[in-house]
Amino acid sequence: MLQLEPRRVATLGVATVICIVFVVMAKMGTRPQMYPGDRTEVRACQFCGGTGVESAQSEGPPPPGVRPGGPCVGCRGAKNLSVIIPGPKHPAWVKGTVRDEKLAANLPVEAVLSESQRPMQKVAGGVTGAKLTFEGQGKKVEINSNLTGRFKVALEPGHYSVKISAKDFQERSEQIEVAALKSPIWPKESARLVTAEQEADITRVDFLLSR
Ligand SMILES: [Zn+2]
Repeated sequence: MLQLEPRRVATLGVATVICIVFVVMAKMGTRPQMYPGDRTEVRACQFCGGTGVESAQSEGPPPPGVRPGGPCVGCRGAKNLSVIIPGPKHPAWVKGTVRDEKLAANLPVEAVLSESQRPMQKVAGGVTGAKLTFEGQGKKVEINSNLTGRFKVALEPGHYSVKISAKDFQERSEQIEVAALKSPIWPKESARLVTAEQEADITRVDFLLSR
């Protein structure tokens, strides 16, 4: 018969609680954050269409970690995934550019769009290190444009006034509307691809500064 001293029982109890806390925290870490008004829904995995199996690639070698005919990398063979249906307060991405009005003047919009496919390439007329201050929804968020003249920020949907300033340029004020998300948010591990509907959820802005 196994005899356990009270002290040993207490130690085992504490160890068990610590283990449970770790497991719960690890699980929470892989799940996107929930905001007021968000709800979850179980959907067929968007990558395998609910089959749980990686289909054979039509051309070229499979991406790393993908074995055609093996378990789907998106859902690990589970077929279904719990997605978040975002509510009106779930932060949405705002992506944009800060550009020198003169240098950007003759640039067709198509050229800006094609540049968005190559994030490391400098945007024509892109202003590096411009300060952007977003004020709205009771919050104030400050960010800077990066080396290419681009920026991105996650904001609660709604109306914002934006102040844009940079050395050698006049300060500019703009008003923007950040649209609420329409598409579901998939778990991180399966977010390998940005779908067209997720792409459409991004609010895009182009701020032009004059000297
Ligand atoms: Zn899948």
